[in-house]
Amino acid sequence: MTAKILVSACLMGHAVRYDGASKPLFHPAIDRWRNEGRLVTICPEMSAGMPVPRPPAEIAGGQAGSDVLSGRARVVEKTGRDVTDEFVQAAENALALALETGCRFALLIDGSPSCGSGFIYDGSFSGARHSGMGVTAALLRQNGIEVYSDSEIDRLVDKAG
Ligand code: SF4
Repeated sequence: MTAKILVSACLMGHAVRYDGASKPLFHPAIDRWRNEGRLVTICPEMSAGMPVPRPPAEIAGGQAGSDVLSGRARVVEKTGRDVTDEFVQAAENALALALETGCRFALLIDGSPSCGSGFIYDGSFSGARHSGMGVTAALLRQNGIEVYSDSEIDRLVDKAG
């Protein structure tokens, strides 16, 4: 099986995170998938025009990405600025790229208000987190793309080959 995999740019070593850092994931499967031409890299937030660095953002009120997509929750920067529209655009960009390139899977870094799929932060900027998905992960899953977090890469290897 040679299905393509959408991957968070920061996991691939790109310095695109809000704080200007990357968070590279080292795993033999990453090198193999790259050599097989199966990785499609995107930073959803940058694709929506967000700069690096940028203020940290969280989904407000302990809610999750699906709540943002249905208009019941907002994404807010630590400065108080509402960035909901940018985060929804980011998710739409990631979905469009995944569909256009035939990605059946996504490997996204956990904890992000965009890419998180196992946990996200609760909107209080206190470090408190809860289980739930970010906006991009939620939209991908709603559209049939199987999303795995960085800590689940071995499960993705079993599934995607
Ligand atoms: S939006 Fe996703 S790819 Fe971009 S920096 Fe945040 S976690 Fe990484």
